[in-house]
Amino acid sequence: MRPMERCDVIVVGAGMAGASAAYWLAERGRVAVLEQEEVAGYHATGRSAAMYMETYGGPLTRGLATAGHAFLAEPPAGFAASPLLSPRPVLYVGRADQVEALDRLYGENRPRVPTLARLGPAETLEHAVPLREDYVVGAVLEPAAHEIDVDALHQGYLRGLRARGGRLVTEAAVTALVREGGLWHAETAAGTYAAPVVVNAAGAWCDVVAALAGIAPLGLQPKRRTAFIFDAPAGDGADDWPMLHDVGDAFYVKPDAGRLLGSPADETPSEPCDAYPEELDIAIGADRIMQAAALDIRHIRNKWAGLRSFVRDRQPVAGFDEAAEGFFWLAGQGGAGIMTAPALGALTAAIVTGAPLPDEASARGITVAQLGPGRVR
Ligand SMILES: Cc1cc2nc3c(=O)[nH]c(=O)nc-3n(C[C@H](O)[C@H](O)[C@H](O)COP(=O)(O)OP(=O)(O)OC[C@H]3O[C@@H](n4cnc5c(N)ncnc54)[C@H](O)[C@@H]3O)c2cc1C
Repeated sequence: MRPMERCDVIVVGAGMAGASAAYWLAERGRVAVLEQEEVAGYHATGRSAAMYMETYGGPLTRGLATAGHAFLAEPPAGFAASPLLSPRPVLYVGRADQVEALDRLYGENRPRVPTLARLGPAETLEHAVPLREDYVVGAVLEPAAHEIDVDALHQGYLRGLRARGGRLVTEAAVTALVREGGLWHAETAAGTYAAPVVVNAAGAWCDVVAALAGIAPLGLQPKRRTAFIFDAPAGDGADDWPMLHDVGDAFYVKPDAGRLLGSPADETPSEPCDAYPEELDIAIGADRIMQAAALDIRHIRNKWAGLRSFVRDRQPVAGFDEAAEGFFWLAGQGGAGIMTAPALGALTAAIVTGAPLPDEASARGITVAQLGPGRVR
């Protein structure tokens, strides 16, 4: 029989969600993070577009992104070797039939994000990207959006976890979860781990992990999203372009290390899996981008897909299951699990340990009840 390791909290999954929660939890107890893959960050976390936007998703997601800004802008000393954020404004563009959507986006967000600007056609066309004059009638500019150094953030959390005495165990898929004697016992090929609390941060697999413990699912739906890299026009300073984002969420394109990253912003329902891109989705994305901007998407240099996982109301869940003692859900981050991780990780540690919620979150009206799984049951 393999030895059993006793700790205070088991975290299942070492993506951005698990890593951020484990970092804060390790400050207050012994933490083991169990990851099925050889490398942490192999799934959704390693496949994102790396954006920080305060206008993205629903109200809770937006509040969480804003609450996490201070950490991203000024992480603790020694957390990362270089800044985690670099400026990348977002230009939400619209056609004549999307004027209402532009106005709505602006109206909903302007009170919270005072730097937001509503642009007419001429001002929109000034923004360097070769937008087609007969396509675009206006835009909303989010000037204070940023790119996140996802790897530095993720590795910073994992380094901090280790420095605080926590453990990351890779190639340790949790295959059984049993509650016995007030402890959850998580069985893996690397041994059994036991703790009073388990944090389910398994990304697209959160419902699968709950089923191992005999717990009712949240109805989490993983959705595939495709990204592809193509050449920027020669000598055009494309590195400085804003991210171009369709206001109806039908495509986006942004600079990426000297080239451009495009996406059809697809949301194809999927089983939890190692997601792969479909040629048709790439063709759809390229076509939509070329309708909006005079770009020539001939050679696809790289492509990938990842799963963004949603519960019914498309807002993240962070809270204890009402029916299963010590089982904590950290799920449903959708398309915002990188930008919301600083706030959600700290909130998870506060809720698990019964500490007051971080000021950054409570100042934005974020409550335990709002975050909990009861909301979607
Ligand atoms: C194309 C694309 C673009 C995106 N762009 C952005 C963006 O610009 N900004 C943003 O904030 N977000 C973005 N996202 C969303 C973001 O990537 C996700 O919300 C985030 O990575 C989710 O993190 P996670 O830790 O929950 O999931 P994951 O990174 O998938 O981690 C879950 C982990 O759990 C592990 N696991 C599962 N089951 C088990 C088990 N039984 N035992 C042990 N381990 C297990 C998995 O192996 C995995 O490593 C994007 C996503 C995609 C796909």
